[in-house]
Amino acid sequence: MNPTHIEHIGIAVTSLEESIPFFEQLLGTKCYNIEEVVDQKVKTAFFKIGQTKIELLEPTSPESTIASFIEKNNGKGGMHHIAFAVENIEGQLAEAEAAGIRLIDKAPRGGAEGLSIAFLHPKSTCGVLTELCEDKNK
Ligand code: ZN
Repeated sequence: MNPTHIEHIGIAVTSLEESIPFFEQLLGTKCYNIEEVVDQKVKTAFFKIGQTKIELLEPTSPESTIASFIEKNNGKGGMHHIAFAVENIEGQLAEAEAAGIRLIDKAPRGGAEGLSIAFLHPKSTCGVLTELCEDKNK
């Protein structure tokens, strides 16, 4: 794989309402987008630092993977995943699979901000949940 940059870092939070003002102060920038991703049962909030974003994720349902992450983390949020920007996400997934990396998503699906996204299994990526993203609209 050859990612072009870190697209975003995903951070699980228990409440966007409480976390957004904190991150606005910490990063010195305003949240520029709040979006619900129904498919993933999360509400997301984005901040931009250079070409990298911070993505806050709040679960919208107890069945959300973010809800189970928070539960395993003693009811607290925390760093959840790292996302790399790639070109030709389908090819990158095939390459990852050929290299023996377990895929969570065999094919890309729609994520926040109109990106095509796919996750790699943390068991294959040194314990770090890894997301690949491609902006097919650019
Ligand atoms: Zn993400």
